[in-house]
Amino acid sequence: MALKLAYLLVGGCGGCDMAVVDLSEKLVDALEHLEIVFWAPTVADVKYKDLEAMPDQSIDIGLISGMVRNKENEHLVKVMRQKCKIIVAFGICAALGGIPGMANMHKKEELFENAYIKSPSTDNPDGVIPQPVSKEGEFELTLPEFLDYVKPIDAIIDVDYYVGGCPPHHDHVAKVVEAVVTGNLPPKGSWITNGKAVCDVCGRNPAEKGKTREFVKEVKRMHEGIPDEEKCLLGQGYLCLGPITQGDCGGLCPKVNIRCAGCGGPIPPTRDFGLRAISAIGSILADENVTDQLIKKYPVLTKMLYRYGLPGAMINRKIFK
Ligand code: SF4
Ligand code: SF4
Repeated sequence: MALKLAYLLVGGCGGCDMAVVDLSEKLVDALEHLEIVFWAPTVADVKYKDLEAMPDQSIDIGLISGMVRNKENEHLVKVMRQKCKIIVAFGICAALGGIPGMANMHKKEELFENAYIKSPSTDNPDGVIPQPVSKEGEFELTLPEFLDYVKPIDAIIDVDYYVGGCPPHHDHVAKVVEAVVTGNLPPKGSWITNGKAVCDVCGRNPAEKGKTREFVKEVKRMHEGIPDEEKCLLGQGYLCLGPITQGDCGGLCPKVNIRCAGCGGPIPPTRDFGLRAISAIGSILADENVTDQLIKKYPVLTKMLYRYGLPGAMINRKIFK
């Protein structure tokens, strides 16, 4: 009997949905074993009330992509938990908050001011800011309330499995779908991953050439030069997070001469990506001068260390006085 599957995108960009569609023929093969009962708001012509009307626990597996940014997101992930036997936080937004999670470095008011008043492309002379309830003549209009902070899915509901990537690579998505279809899943609460770091699948790894890592003598940001394509980016001073990031992408960024920024999520059992990152980077800086350079070149270090996962960190936002 086909497994019933539901897919929900909440606060995300739709890239994770595209990663599933990118399975192409493999998705067609998988459809023999899967009955997609809900895929919103991107793919199927269904409404949220259709999901709400389904019997509790009637769906075998629910994939959720995107983070929780507003009350509607919060409500829908709760409905998914009620309807699905297994929930997968699919992609790094759902698992740890993703890039939108960097908003946790700012107050809600600051975000609104930038988005609706200060941004160069905005023409809003009256300074109108969206309100949860407003009046239009005799009608009352409502918008989902914007929450103070971005949250990953597991801040709202129990999550059974996590998948990293922004978006997950389609080869990895194929493995996730296969694991779901065959029931060959790891223990509840695990990341579905091959367990390798990006460094393990990267052709630039000095260990592959029998060499040891060089200490970083100068910190460089990606715009400060063109890295040598043969050498490890970290050794050249570009702060590649490959040593601590899940490598289910096959090391795509270093392949095109870009440092890994950590979208795959931390290698289990690391709990806090940024803490692990600063510990790994700190251990490879040559001396105090290089540490000073790091601080000067990354004035908001948190945004580098937690580019993909601030809401999932132990301290998950900037604390304002
Ligand atoms: Fe988009 Fe990346 Fe978030 Fe997926 S993880 S919804 S691709 S931003
Ligand atoms: Fe490759 Fe980056 Fe690891 Fe160096 S640090 S081996 S460039 S993934």
